[in-house]
Amino acid sequence: MMSTAEYLEDPAQAAERALALLRRESGLSAAAIWGASGATWQKLAGFGAAEGLPSAELLVGGRLPGPDGGALALRMADKALGWLVWRGRAPASLADIAALLAGHLHCAALREEHSAARRVNETMLEISLLAGEGASLERLLPRLHRLMSRLMDVGNFSIALYGDDGATLHFPFYVDRRDPAPPSPQAMLPLDDGHAALAAWLLRGGKPMVLSGERIVELCRQEGMPQPAALPAFWMGAPLANAAGGFIGAVTLHTYEDQPALTSSEQLLFMFAARHVGFALDRVLYRGRLERQVWLRTSELEGANARLRAEVASRKRTEKFQNALFRIAELSNSSLSLEAFLSGLHRLLSEMVSARNCLVALYDKVNDRITFPYCADEYVEALHPRKPGKGYIEQVLHSGRPLLVDPYSQLAAPDEEGGVRPQSWLGVPLYCDHELLGVLAVQSYDGEASYNFRDQEVLEFVANNIGAALARVRALESLQQAYAELEQRVRERTSELDAVNAQLEFDSLHDPLTKLPNRNYFAKALRRAWDGYLAGSGDRFALLFIDLDRFKLVNDTLGHLAGDHLLFEAGARIRSCLRHYDFLARLGGDEFAVLMFGMDGTEDCELIARRIVSEFERPVILAGREVFSTASVGVVLADRDHYHKADELLRDADHAMYCTKQQGRQGYTLFSHQLRIDQADQLALESELRRALEEDSQLLPYYQPFIEAATGRLTGFETLVRWQHPQRGLISPALFLPMAEESGLITRLDRYMLNAACAQLQAWRAEGRVGENIALHINLSSANFHDPDLVGWIGERIAHYQLPPSMLHLEITESALIDQPDTAATVMQALHELGVKLALDDFGTGYSALSYLHRYRFDVLKIDQSFVFDLDRKEESVAIVRAILALAKALDLDVVAEGVETAAQLAMLREMGCGKLQGFYFAAPAPARGIDWERLARFERDIPCAA
Ligand code: C2E
Ligand code: CA
Ligand code: CA
Repeated sequence: MMSTAEYLEDPAQAAERALALLRRESGLSAAAIWGASGATWQKLAGFGAAEGLPSAELLVGGRLPGPDGGALALRMADKALGWLVWRGRAPASLADIAALLAGHLHCAALREEHSAARRVNETMLEISLLAGEGASLERLLPRLHRLMSRLMDVGNFSIALYGDDGATLHFPFYVDRRDPAPPSPQAMLPLDDGHAALAAWLLRGGKPMVLSGERIVELCRQEGMPQPAALPAFWMGAPLANAAGGFIGAVTLHTYEDQPALTSSEQLLFMFAARHVGFALDRVLYRGRLERQVWLRTSELEGANARLRAEVASRKRTEKFQNALFRIAELSNSSLSLEAFLSGLHRLLSEMVSARNCLVALYDKVNDRITFPYCADEYVEALHPRKPGKGYIEQVLHSGRPLLVDPYSQLAAPDEEGGVRPQSWLGVPLYCDHELLGVLAVQSYDGEASYNFRDQEVLEFVANNIGAALARVRALESLQQAYAELEQRVRERTSELDAVNAQLEFDSLHDPLTKLPNRNYFAKALRRAWDGYLAGSGDRFALLFIDLDRFKLVNDTLGHLAGDHLLFEAGARIRSCLRHYDFLARLGGDEFAVLMFGMDGTEDCELIARRIVSEFERPVILAGREVFSTASVGVVLADRDHYHKADELLRDADHAMYCTKQQGRQGYTLFSHQLRIDQADQLALESELRRALEEDSQLLPYYQPFIEAATGRLTGFETLVRWQHPQRGLISPALFLPMAEESGLITRLDRYMLNAACAQLQAWRAEGRVGENIALHINLSSANFHDPDLVGWIGERIAHYQLPPSMLHLEITESALIDQPDTAATVMQALHELGVKLALDDFGTGYSALSYLHRYRFDVLKIDQSFVFDLDRKEESVAIVRAILALAKALDLDVVAEGVETAAQLAMLREMGCGKLQGFYFAAPAPARGIDWERLARFERDIPCAA
């Protein structure tokens, strides 16, 4: 019998074995066993004339094999699993064998069912897993198709899905053995394509659908749908639903007539699988949608994010620019120099762009030059001003537009200075009020920083905002420079002024020639000494007034250089006589003064005064000549009993010196009480002279005649003043003329005398006492040369008294010529033109005598009485007189010898050929009415005899 293990056999084997058993045990002529295979029947085994036996379909339909046979349904739990049909006599064991066979078939069916179910489950699981894999629809659908093919023949298979709009259908997967072209995914309208139309129609119905070929034809006609290009014999479709029950598309399967039709279990399986495919696709689609949504959302968010970032960046940039603007403003306000401003700007710029190398170029329109007020560069130390060339800077200046040069730029690199060529260069123009000032540029030598348009924007922004600041700082700087220059000049000027002031102060207190203190300084020192003496804090002191005798003569004869030398030497000599604490000053001209401290008595003063005087006895060598310049000294001892003011001391010392002069110079005079009285007297005399000049009675002209030496004839008179003082009696000119000179009254006195003399001459002429050959000499002080009206006035007087001008001889002393040589020349020329004669008085007393004779036009020369006086005593005087006479002869001058007192003098002068003579020998000066005309006439007779 059959073991249980045999149940596991193949149904066909089991059927064979069952028939073999039956053959053995009975006389059956034929038998067959049918097994259910899905919805159909399959002959599992048979023998004999089995073909004559009815098939399973017939048996099911109720047909029996006939009377000589039988048929038995093989059942298990009322389920027909097969048929046993036979012909012949059935053995007794048939029922058992049939039951065994039924059990066998049942097992096989179960086994078949189980494996099919397992396959389906596995497939469904894989479909679900497929959905979970996350693959895209395109990759998923072929795999889905492969999985489906495990379950059934899916040679013609399609999946239709709704588009996102939920209305159109498309076919992401379509296979067809006859019509490989899938329905167009674009043309998703149901009417476009037969298959698409069927799928759409299916979805409209919302139910799985199985159609035969005829039904399709009928349906298409009914619905007005296109037929599929190749008409299937069988068409089946199921909607694809999602978990919520909504349709997402459809899955279809069809076969053509040459293919086996699908069994009903396959159809059921298809519908079952469709549900899984629906869920799986829904998941995938959902995920796709989700992903799309996520992607969309993400990109939306990313967009928003980018927008925000851009906004933030732009805000930051605005902030940065704003900040830069503030800092530029701050910089321009706080920078004192252009350099400080520009380096600050560079720092600021570095925070915004890569600006390791930065330069500012300014264009100087006036000089057509480019200057570089700022240059920070890795390779270039400094840029010097230059004429515009062909550089990048020039290109910016020329175009007035930014210039960006990078390694990829087509711009030909110009020859920039420095040799190293930048990899990237960015320059923008600097404007101020539309005026192009220059260029702001940054450059990079390595590839690290390559400038772009953002950098250009930054640079332009900065450039736009520094133009005004630059102009302002530049103006400020030039202002500062101007200030600095001004300050420097003020400093220089101040120090110059200080030096000048110091010099001035020194100058104001010192004599430039001898470098000794001057009158000013002396006055101060004197006052201080006096105050100290009065207060008891200082020593008693003496004041010496020193005047060089005949200094003016030296000065004029030997020149100013010699004069200066003499003064210098004089200062040194005086100094040598003093103690170091004595104060020596040059008061002016040839006047010196000394303050000698610690003087208690007159002896000390006199000692020093004597020393000084003797110091000047040595000659001074000037211009190779030995010159004797003696000194006249006046001494005053400070005395609080007699003086109130320091000035009084100086006045008295001066007076004492003057007394020395009057006493014949070269010596000293100690100011005494008597001198003070005399001085007071002088002051009284001055006012008295003033009064005397206003009346005619006091000042009297005396006349002293001139006698011609050869003939004894009267040739003229000299007018000499005498003062008939009401109290003092007759005063000689020696006593009041110095006072008249000093007080300036002398000019009035001279006019007075000249007028009186002219009147007298007119009178004499009227009386017939004198002819035109008589000369009337009048002394004229040098002070008159200052009087511009003098010549006019004299001319007027001459006219007034109707005198021939040549009768008047004006006597002038050398001192007049020394004091004002030019004025003297002018006045003398004018007098000469007037027709009056000029006589040089006291000739021979000065060194310059000879030069005067050449320089001025004199008519007469008067030999000083000192020579005449010595004539019979000193050989030297004879020589001098001879020389003078020779000179006068050569110059064609008349000569008058003064002071002829003796016959010997007369004889000598006559012998020497002197023209005219004057002196007591002939007559003393006498008033007009006192002239002894008789006596004068006698000389004419006597003198030749005397010779
Ligand atoms: P002086 O021009 O040289 O005048 C000659 C002086 O010699 C006069 O002195 C005269 O009296 C004096 N004298 C004449 N003969 C002899 C003589 O033989 N022996 C001596 N020892 N002396 C004699 P006087 O009149 O005292 O005048 C002195 C000086 O005063 C004059 O010197 C003259 O320079 C000046 N003087 C006189 N009258 C005037 C005047 O009206 N105006 C001006 N500016 N000066 C005058
Ligand atoms: Ca005279
Ligand atoms: Ca004289």
